[in-house]
Amino acid sequence: MTDLAQIVGDNLARVRERIANAAARCGRSPDEIRLVAVTKYVDAALAQAVVAAGCHDLGESRPQELWSKAAAMPGDGIRWHLIGHLQRNKVRRTLQVAGLIHSLDSLRLAEAIQADAAANVLLEVNISGDESKQGLAPDEVASLLPQLAELDRIQVRGLMTMSHREGGLDVAQADFARLRELRDRLVCELPPSVSLDELSMGMSDDFEAAVLEGSTIVRVGSALFEGLDATSSH
Ligand SMILES: *Cc1c(COP(=O)(O)O)cnc(C)c1O
Repeated sequence: MTDLAQIVGDNLARVRERIANAAARCGRSPDEIRLVAVTKYVDAALAQAVVAAGCHDLGESRPQELWSKAAAMPGDGIRWHLIGHLQRNKVRRTLQVAGLIHSLDSLRLAEAIQADAAANVLLEVNISGDESKQGLAPDEVASLLPQLAELDRIQVRGLMTMSHREGGLDVAQADFARLRELRDRLVCELPPSVSLDELSMGMSDDFEAAVLEGSTIVRVGSALFEGLDATSSH
């Protein structure tokens, strides 16, 4: 375990350095960018190694996996992020654990959250238009915001997206630029109580491009667990 912890610690340091370098390239402070370590590939022991190495924001894409990791890792001031699709029948248990839901993608889901508890949410936007992706179409967001503003337990904090799977870094950066531009248009007519300060964008293959386009949260999994045999990929 100590070897594994060492590898995870080194990987984390390298990712943080890459974030800092990308931030420096565009005149941003690295403090503006929160790293969420995506632990969906690894067990709770390895996730704990990330926490021990100093990253307290952890993300899971499946609600049940979030619940079981959170139960296995009590204490330590971990902030849990749900980054994948949330089914309405999983809202209650998820809200008991997750501090930020990155994947709000419908009014129905928002209403299910409102009926249960207060929550911080990001709106997931399918900026690339991939059929296989979850998320709101970019032109659906403007009409949804006033409806969400009426739900007093829903705190909208920003937008989340994933880039095109294929196409490389230039395509990814263009996707991230489009999310930022969408946000910049929406803030002109923002309902009170809605904030779009957060942009959750960037994964292992493209987080530097995301930082250059204004990402405030990057969600990094594989790059943190490179060089380990013990990973079980979903
Ligand atoms: C898995 C996942 C990530 C992390 O992906 P990596 O490429 O392993 O860094 C980020 N965001 C979402 C929504 C994911 O499902």
